[in-house]
Amino acid sequence: MPCPTPRYLVPFHPKQVPHFFTDVLIIGSGLSGFRAALAVDPSLSVVVATKDGLEESSSAYAQGGIAAVLSPDDRFEDHIADTLAAGGSLCDVEVVERVIRAAPKHIRELIDWGAEFDHAGDQLALGREGAHGRNRIAHALGDATGKEIMRAVSRQIEMAAHVDIWPNTFTVDLLATDGVCRGALVWNQQHGKTLVWAKQTILATGGAGQLYRETTNPEVATGDGMAMAYRAGAELRDLEFMQFHPTVLYIAGSSRHLISEAVRGEGAWLVDRTGYRFMTDYDPRGELAPRDVVSLAIVAQMEKTKHPNVYLDLSHLDGEKVRERFPGIAGVCGEFNLDIARDQIPVRPGAHYMMGGVTVDVQGRTTLDGLWAAGETTSSGLHGANRLASNSLLEALVYGACTGRSAARAAAEMNDSFTAPAIENPNLGLVGEPLKMADIRNSLASLMWRNVGVRRNAEGLNEAIENINRWCRYVLGRQFADPIGWELQNMLCVASLMIEAALARQETRGVQVRIDFPETDDQRWNRHLTFFRNRE
Ligand SMILES: Cc1cc2nc3c(=O)[nH]c(=O)nc-3n(C[C@H](O)[C@H](O)[C@H](O)COP(=O)(O)OP(=O)(O)OC[C@H]3O[C@@H](n4cnc5c(N)ncnc54)[C@H](O)[C@@H]3O)c2cc1C
Repeated sequence: MPCPTPRYLVPFHPKQVPHFFTDVLIIGSGLSGFRAALAVDPSLSVVVATKDGLEESSSAYAQGGIAAVLSPDDRFEDHIADTLAAGGSLCDVEVVERVIRAAPKHIRELIDWGAEFDHAGDQLALGREGAHGRNRIAHALGDATGKEIMRAVSRQIEMAAHVDIWPNTFTVDLLATDGVCRGALVWNQQHGKTLVWAKQTILATGGAGQLYRETTNPEVATGDGMAMAYRAGAELRDLEFMQFHPTVLYIAGSSRHLISEAVRGEGAWLVDRTGYRFMTDYDPRGELAPRDVVSLAIVAQMEKTKHPNVYLDLSHLDGEKVRERFPGIAGVCGEFNLDIARDQIPVRPGAHYMMGGVTVDVQGRTTLDGLWAAGETTSSGLHGANRLASNSLLEALVYGACTGRSAARAAAEMNDSFTAPAIENPNLGLVGEPLKMADIRNSLASLMWRNVGVRRNAEGLNEAIENINRWCRYVLGRQFADPIGWELQNMLCVASLMIEAALARQETRGVQVRIDFPETDDQRWNRHLTFFRNRE
């Protein structure tokens, strides 16, 4: 049983809190949130509330690129087949077809908006990543694709007079009455709490990598959207499927920078502490095997060599070209006195992409009326049990646009009403002794890394759930006054659901590797695992 979680994290009463009315409320300013905002008809009002500065999102940090059929040598059928081969039978074929066929149009639109993708001559330079059968990854600024895409999209947002951006505004909870989402309760340092009433609400809050000690995700990726959707009664699914990126920079004192898969695509080798190139011992595709295979091989080789990491080696490639193709990675490594063209780069796996999340249909509609969702916070059916590299920016883009359009259509059919529904949350449990939040957060991240990581078993998962349940008992019932506490509550809620799902799925499928159930069991487990909290 997941931890019992209160419906709302903070007390509020409509007579004591300012109100704001909008047609569409979008929570999150990554690619999916901004693309959704741009798809809303300009006759409607949009608020985008985002908890940090506008530059803080996974979208802005994306490196390798965005996948699409962009060359005459490639075919939609091949991109679809590669996506289905990676994600398996938990992919929704209709969703995969729709997203992949829509991809080129959306990328051309980004180019029209000024996104400058890298070129080889007068053609787009298309890279190759693990488990893609063709070169189909469009990239920009070498290895800073997300930064360039977000620059172009943000410029469009600045010109969109109907879109109001609220930075540094934390969404605490979704407001819902009679099974319909009515907006959200937000908080910022200046104004405190505000009730934002929206005809339609879109969650675009990204992933949950911060649940793990080793992660590529920025600080904002704490699973807030999943937790608030769960509290409001929306369905979540596939939470056991966290994808680990195999090559995350592992240097004491540095943040965990991702070393893009494109580096291996360009020919980098993975070697162990003795310099041995080990990947073909585990998979004939070598360094270009799917991410989960590479992550597992690295963990096994780390154990074999009793070493905390392995190394990426590019020294056999043209140094000049390597530095030019990966300027961002070269810069980060340079800060630690490593020359990526000559030195071995220490790496190990880290939590990277959450396949599971809020269940959405092909339009981005959740199971809660009035609530839509797009991007990494969702489970759309595109990725199944294992995301194909560079399909996630694509999902954020295509679903962002589609969700924005659909939510706007629904909002346009509703009359204006400037009356606040009678929702209140009178009071909440304990205030009590201050807790050492960083301590609990670090313990949670270490526990998740140790017991709910690349390889799992019942013993480790049970130990994890026992610990988390204990923390939940004194953290979830507390009343916190700022985002540090609310994030911790959200992380505990999502962690508990993830572990329940990982424990329940007694098989190995995609990125969920159960060493005590090493086979895929289609008879029992060829299905989604769903969670929802009974609505009040
Ligand atoms: C280092 C890195 C490299 C990557 N490289 C690639 C790549 O090359 N290709 C690819 O396809 N994918 C890549 N990914 C994955 C991809 O970037 C993400 O899946 C995608 O950008 C998610 O977009 P999003 O809009 O759903 O979420 P995000 O871009 O993460 O945006 C989420 C937004 O929600 C806000 N938010 C969260 N909680 C709250 C709250 N409580 N209140 C208000 N706002 C909130 C955040 O502040 C943020 O603005 C990479 C990810 C990382 C971390």
